[in-house]
Amino acid sequence: MNATIQTTNFAASATRVRPCPLCGGLDREVQARRDGWEIVRCARCEMVFLGSELAYDEQAKNHDWVEEHTKELEQRRAKQPVMLFLSRCTRWLRPEPTERLVAQTLRWARSGKLVDFGCGDGQRTSREKIFEGPVTEVAERDLPEGAFDVVTQFGYIEHEWHPLAGLRAAHRVLKPGGLTIVKTPNYASWNRHIRGMNWCGYHVPAHCNYFTPRTLDKILRATGFEPLPRPLADRLPTSDSLWMAARKS
Ligand SMILES: [Zn+2]
Repeated sequence: MNATIQTTNFAASATRVRPCPLCGGLDREVQARRDGWEIVRCARCEMVFLGSELAYDEQAKNHDWVEEHTKELEQRRAKQPVMLFLSRCTRWLRPEPTERLVAQTLRWARSGKLVDFGCGDGQRTSREKIFEGPVTEVAERDLPEGAFDVVTQFGYIEHEWHPLAGLRAAHRVLKPGGLTIVKTPNYASWNRHIRGMNWCGYHVPAHCNYFTPRTLDKILRATGFEPLPRPLADRLPTSDSLWMAARKS
């Protein structure tokens, strides 16, 4: 009698369909493909995002973010999304290489208590405290409500699988009238059209959200912010970075 043993090789399919992170919609059009991932555009709200997602523990298990990140860093000086740090405004950043971040922050806020979501390499000076972990969890657990004048988010929101939750967390910790200042790759940039998949804003799957000025405006409004008028220099489609400041309304 022959016994049969079946073995099955299966690629642990740890991904699942990801609803639109802005409106929750499921209708989408594929914009691009890379490494088995699809970058899709929501048919309802125009949000561009990775159309499937990993559970957070799967991310930690199967994707060595630090290693992956180090590779990206070498190429593009990308930043890790899983850190928060607090500081008093104006003294916390080195003049280089972050002078643009300082200038953008000072344009909108010159003093007060600041928290930076994500992006930290932990090397900035004059910080008071650093928290590590998923931003949304850390903010909920460790940051008091209504305590901050400014939340900076430089290179965070494009990494956040739940950007609504990330922005709600920013909203919660801000004082009434407080500001958030966001920097993220500009999916509407001319360069993205010209360079296709070689565009510097594509980091798959590290960047799971790809904002245009319109969709960033929408998601800020959806989370209780009033976007502020953008200076001309920030509105040029030649810029690969999308900057937006918004007030807690
Ligand atoms: Zn949508």
